[in-house]
Amino acid sequence: MHRTLLSAAVALTLATAPLVHASAAPTRARAGAPASVDTTTQLPRGVVPTHYQVSLTPDAAAASFSARAVVTINIGKATNSITLNAADLRFSRVTLAPAAGGAGQEATVAVDADAQTATFTFTQPVAPGMYYLAMDYTGVIGTQAVGLFSLDYPGAGGKQERALYTQFENSDARRMIPSWDEPAYKASFALDVVVPAGQMAVSNMPTTNTAPLPDGRKRVTFATTPKMSTYLLFFALGDFERASAKVDGIEVGVVTRRGALAQAQFALASQQAILREYNDYFGVRYPLPKLDNVAGAGRSQFFSAMENWGAIFTFEYALLLDPAISTQHDRQEIFVTAAHEMAHQWFGDLVTMRWWDDLWLNEGFASWMESRMTARLHPEWNAQLGAVATRESAMRRDSVAGTHPVVQHVETVEQASQAFDEITYSKGESVIRMLEAYVGADAWRTGVRAYMKAHAYGNTVSDDLWKQIEKAAGKPVTAIAHDFTLQPGVPLIRVGEPVCRDGTTTVMLTQDEFARDQPGKAPLGWRVPVIAQIAGNAKQATTLVAGGKGTLTLPGCGAVVVNAGQSGYYRTLYAPADFARLAQGFAALAPIDQIGLLADSGALGLAGLQPASSMLDLVKATPAGADPAVWTRIAGMLDGLHARYREQARGGDDARLRRFDAYAIGRLVPLMAQVGWNARPGEPTSVASLREQLVVVLSDLGDANLIAEARRRYTALATDPNAVPGPLRKTVMGVVAQHADGATWDQLRTAARNETNPLVRDQRYALLASTEDRALAQRALQLALTDEPGLTISAEMISEVAARYPDMAFDFAIANLAKINERVDASSRSRYLARLAMGSSDPAMVGKLGAYAQANLAPTSRGDVEAAVAAIKDRIQVNAARLPEIDGWLAGNGRQVAGSVSAGQGHGGSALQ
Ligand SMILES: [Zn+2]
Repeated sequence: MHRTLLSAAVALTLATAPLVHASAAPTRARAGAPASVDTTTQLPRGVVPTHYQVSLTPDAAAASFSARAVVTINIGKATNSITLNAADLRFSRVTLAPAAGGAGQEATVAVDADAQTATFTFTQPVAPGMYYLAMDYTGVIGTQAVGLFSLDYPGAGGKQERALYTQFENSDARRMIPSWDEPAYKASFALDVVVPAGQMAVSNMPTTNTAPLPDGRKRVTFATTPKMSTYLLFFALGDFERASAKVDGIEVGVVTRRGALAQAQFALASQQAILREYNDYFGVRYPLPKLDNVAGAGRSQFFSAMENWGAIFTFEYALLLDPAISTQHDRQEIFVTAAHEMAHQWFGDLVTMRWWDDLWLNEGFASWMESRMTARLHPEWNAQLGAVATRESAMRRDSVAGTHPVVQHVETVEQASQAFDEITYSKGESVIRMLEAYVGADAWRTGVRAYMKAHAYGNTVSDDLWKQIEKAAGKPVTAIAHDFTLQPGVPLIRVGEPVCRDGTTTVMLTQDEFARDQPGKAPLGWRVPVIAQIAGNAKQATTLVAGGKGTLTLPGCGAVVVNAGQSGYYRTLYAPADFARLAQGFAALAPIDQIGLLADSGALGLAGLQPASSMLDLVKATPAGADPAVWTRIAGMLDGLHARYREQARGGDDARLRRFDAYAIGRLVPLMAQVGWNARPGEPTSVASLREQLVVVLSDLGDANLIAEARRRYTALATDPNAVPGPLRKTVMGVVAQHADGATWDQLRTAARNETNPLVRDQRYALLASTEDRALAQRALQLALTDEPGLTISAEMISEVAARYPDMAFDFAIANLAKINERVDASSRSRYLARLAMGSSDPAMVGKLGAYAQANLAPTSRGDVEAAVAAIKDRIQVNAARLPEIDGWLAGNGRQVAGSVSAGQGHGGSALQ
C-alpha cells in the first residue's frame, strides 16, 4: 500500500494512530498451521482453504451485493464446527459436502460481529479430508475504502456516476468473502460476476468469458489466480475505459472512468518502463498474464494506492495527470506510486510476510525500491536527494517516547492497521538503504533474487531475507539488521577530534542514542556501518561501530564528513570546532551531504545537543547557486521554524514571529526572483519543484508581494489561460485560498460546486479548508459534514483545517464523532483523531487525547494516541527551550535582511521537525 501524501502542511505534522471498535480476541493457537505453527492467528487451526470459487452480484444503486462462495478446504482433524472471518455478512444457507462426493450437511450459523467471525456448526461430526464449503450470503457496499465500496463522481453528462472497487488490506476481504482472511492462508481464487451489460468489470486476472443474460446484464468470468493471500484480491466495476501495451509478453494496462483515459498516458508509459526493470531486477518474471492500474475518484485518509496482484488500485490524484492542475510534484508522485505498487507485485504478492509483524518486509522494501527505480529511470529528478527526507520522517517519530521496532508483534486487526506508519515505511526503507550500501548493490540484488526464488508463492519472516543477503554478501548482515529492526530508536554517532598525521586522518567515533525527549536514557547498542570522507576527497572509508566505539582512518586531511552519501540511519554530532569547519566549507560539499548536514543540525539543535541556531549558520553559508533541492530543503526548514514561532504567537508573542518571518522572507525572496514564476525552456525539474516550494513557503510566511502576485494571476486566469502556468495552478489556487477573505472564500466554494472534473473538484474542496482565517476554517469544518463535498473528501477537509488549527479540528471531530466515523475508513478510524491532534501545542490537548482514548480505544490500540501525545509534549518543550537561541542568532544576523519585504500576518504552514 502506498501511504497517503496529505497536504505538505498536514503530512509534516503527522504520525499515525489506532482503531475504534472492539477487535477480535487474539489467540495464538498452535496446530495445523498454514505456514508455521508460530504464525499468529485469530482463527482456530485445523482447516486450510485451498481454493475459493466466488460468484458475486453487486447492486450498486442499493449499496448491497449477493454472493455464493464455494471454498475447497482441507480439514485436518475431526470437528463439528468451522470458524472463519466474516464482517457485515448475512448468511442464508451454508452447506458442507465431501469433495470426493457423498452426502453433505447444512450448518447452523453463528456470527460474532466483534470478532469478525462466523462459526458453522454441524450436527454430524466432520471427518478429516477435503470438502466443499458452500455459502450463500449478502453484504453491504460501503462509501469508504474498506471491503467492497463505491465512489461517486460527477459523470460526463452532469449526472452522478457510481463505480465500485475493493480494498482488502489489511483485513477486509472478510467484508466481501467469508474467508480465512490472514496472509498466511494462501489459496487460488476464481471469480465470476453478474453486472450491467454496459459496464466494465476488472479483477486480478484477465476475463475468460463474457455471457449476456436475458435481463440485460452479463456474466463475466475471470481466470483463476495463482495461490495468494486474501488481502490481494480485487474487483472493480464501472463506466470505465482501458488502454494497454505489451511488455515482455505481459499486458500492462490503465483503467479510468470514461473520458479520463488520456490523462493516464504518463502512468501507462511509466508502468511499461518499470515492469521491464523489475523483470530483470528480481530475476523472476512477473508471473501473471496482465497488470492493470485502476483509477478511482476521491481519496482515503490512509493510502493512495494498493498493490492488488495484477490489478493495482490508485486514487486518481496519484495516477492521472490533469494539465489544469497537475504539478511537477504530482508527476513524480505518479511515477513513484506506480513503482511502489509494482515492487509489491513481487515483494508482498509473490512472496508475502507470514503475519503483520513483518509488514515492513512489504512496505520498507517497496518504499526503497520506488526510490531506487526513480533514481534509475528519472535521474533528472535528482530523487536520490530525497533519501534524507525519508530518513527524517522516520527519525522524527523514532526519537521520541512511544516509538517501536521495525519488526513489532501485532495481535489484532487494529494493531495491524496502526503498523502502516513511518517506522514501517520510512525507517524500513532507510535501513535497507544502509544495508545495501554496506554489502554493495550487486550482492544485495543477488540476495533478493535468491529470496524470491526460494519463497515464490509462499510466506516469510525477516530472517528469511537476511539469510539470503548474508549468503550473497559474505558479511554479517543479520546482526546489524537485528540491531536496527528488532529494537527501536536512533543511534547518535559522536565524532571525536580528527587527528591528521602523514596525510592520514584518524577519527574516534562513539555511539550514543538520539532520544530527544528522554535526556537521561541509557543508550541502546547498535552495530552501525559508518561511511565517511574528507570534504573534497572522493575516496570514502567505512568502519563498523560496535560495542559503542569505532575508528575511522581516512586518506587526506581536512574537514571530516561522517555519513557521507547519507545512507546511514543515525545522527551525526560533531565537536563545535569541526562543525564550524564544515559550515565554512559547506558550499563545496556534495548536495546530498549538504542536505544531510542541514537535517542533522536542525534536529540536534532543537534537541539541545548543539546550538539551535546551527542550522541557520548553514543556511547563511549556502550560496544562491546551490542545488535547487538544497534550497527546497532549506525553505522547508524555515517553514518549520515559522510554524513554531506561530504557535508562540498564538500566546501573544507576535514580535518574534514577525522578526523571524522577515528574516526568512529576506532569504527566500531573491531565490524566488531567480527561479521566476514561469518555467524556462529546458530548466531542470528540481527548479520546478523549488518554485512550487517557494510559493508555498513564502505564502505561509505571509510575503505580501508574493500573495498579491498570486491573487493577480489567479484573477487574470478568468480571461487569460496563460496567466498561471499549468504546473503552478494548484499552488497558486492554494495561496488564494489560504489568504481568502469571506467573499473570495464564497467564490471559491461556488467554483468547487460547479466543477465537473472530479480530480479538480476534490482539490478545490480541500483548498477551502486550508484557509488561515479562523472563522472561515470553522465554516470549512461545517461544510465538510454536509452532503455537498462528497463522502470521500470530508475527512481530508478536516485534516486540512487541522494543519493550521489542530485543536479546533479535534474538538469538532469529537463533537461530531458519529458523522466523522462514517467518513473515515472503518479499519483506520482510531488513527484519524490522533492525526488531527498531533500538530497541537496546547498542553490541554494531552488530556483531551487521553480522554478520547479511554472512551473509544482498546488499550492495545492506543499507539498512535501515545505518539501524538509525545509529539505535542516535545513541541511545547522545544519551543520554550530552543527558540530563544534562534532569537539570539537573528538579533546578531538580522541586519542583513532589515528592510526586506514586508511581513504579512504570518499564519499557516507546517510544523516541521
Ligand atoms: Zn506499499
